[in-house]
Amino acid sequence: MNKQIGSIIPRPSRPNMVGDGFRVFNFIPGGIGQQRISPFLMLDFAAEHNFSPSERERGVDVHPHKGFETVTIAYKGSVAHHDSAGNSGVINPGDVQWMTAGAGILHKEFHEKEYSRKGGPFEMVQLWVNLPKKYKSEAPHYQALTAEGMGKVKLADNAGQVNVIAGIFNGVKGPAQTYTPVNLFDIKLNKGGEVSFSVPEDHNTALLVIDGTIDVNGQSAPRHSFVLFENQGEDITIRGWENSVVLLLSGTPIDEPIVSYGPFVMNTQEEIYQAIRDYQHGKFGVL
Ligand code: MN
Repeated sequence: MNKQIGSIIPRPSRPNMVGDGFRVFNFIPGGIGQQRISPFLMLDFAAEHNFSPSERERGVDVHPHKGFETVTIAYKGSVAHHDSAGNSGVINPGDVQWMTAGAGILHKEFHEKEYSRKGGPFEMVQLWVNLPKKYKSEAPHYQALTAEGMGKVKLADNAGQVNVIAGIFNGVKGPAQTYTPVNLFDIKLNKGGEVSFSVPEDHNTALLVIDGTIDVNGQSAPRHSFVLFENQGEDITIRGWENSVVLLLSGTPIDEPIVSYGPFVMNTQEEIYQAIRDYQHGKFGVL
C-alpha cells in the first residue's frame, strides 16, 4: 500500500541566519512539532546560495550540544568543524558528518578556508536526531561518512542513483550507525527517472526536495518543498520531472518526553537545568 501523504509544506518565505555562514530554511520542528516527527528534532535546509569570496571564514562559533546527534549533509561547498573532544575535519560535497553529542560537547562550524576564498554555491542540510534516554550520556563521538563510503544503488533504466547514508534501501545498507532505526537516503533522479522503495509503516517519514520538481505517490512536490507522510502504508514512488535531488528521512519514533532548550534536548526540565549548569561549569570541555 502506498504511504499516505499528510501534507506538502512549501519553503518558508524567509531564511534564518545561523551565525553568518548558514542561511537556512527551517522545516523541523517548523509547524510540524518534534513529537510528531520523532526521532528528528530539527531540520535546517541551507538552500543553494552563492557566497562571495571571503578571506575570513563565515560560520558559527563555539556552541554546545547535549542529548542528541547532529547530522550534516553537504551538497555544495565545504564545512570545517572542530570540537572540545579534539576532533576536527572537513565535510565536502557528498560527505555526511554524524556527530553524537551525547553527554555534551562544544562545537564550531565554519566554511572551509579554500571554499571561503573562492566563494560559490553552498548547499547543506543539518538534521538533529534525538537519542533515547539511555543513550543521552554517551561519550561524544563522530562518524565521518565519506561520499565513497555510502551504500550505492544504481537505478535501472538510467533513472538515477541512491546513496544510502543510514538504514536500508531495497536491501542495501548505509554506513551510519544509529541508536534507533533511522533511514536517510540521498536520492538523485535523472529527468523522467523513477524510484520505488518501502519504509516501515510505523516510521515517521518525510522528504525534502533539494532540487528539481518531483511527483511522489502521484502528488506534485515542487523544488524546496517538504513532504510529510502519514504512518499508513509503506510504499513510496518518486518520479523526477527534471534532474532532481531528494533527501528521504524516516525513523522509529522515540516514545519519551522531549524537553528542549536550544542546543540541549533531554527528557525533563530538571535535566535541562542540570545541562545548563554542567555547561556553565565547563563540563563540556574547552574549545
Ligand atoms: Mn553544532
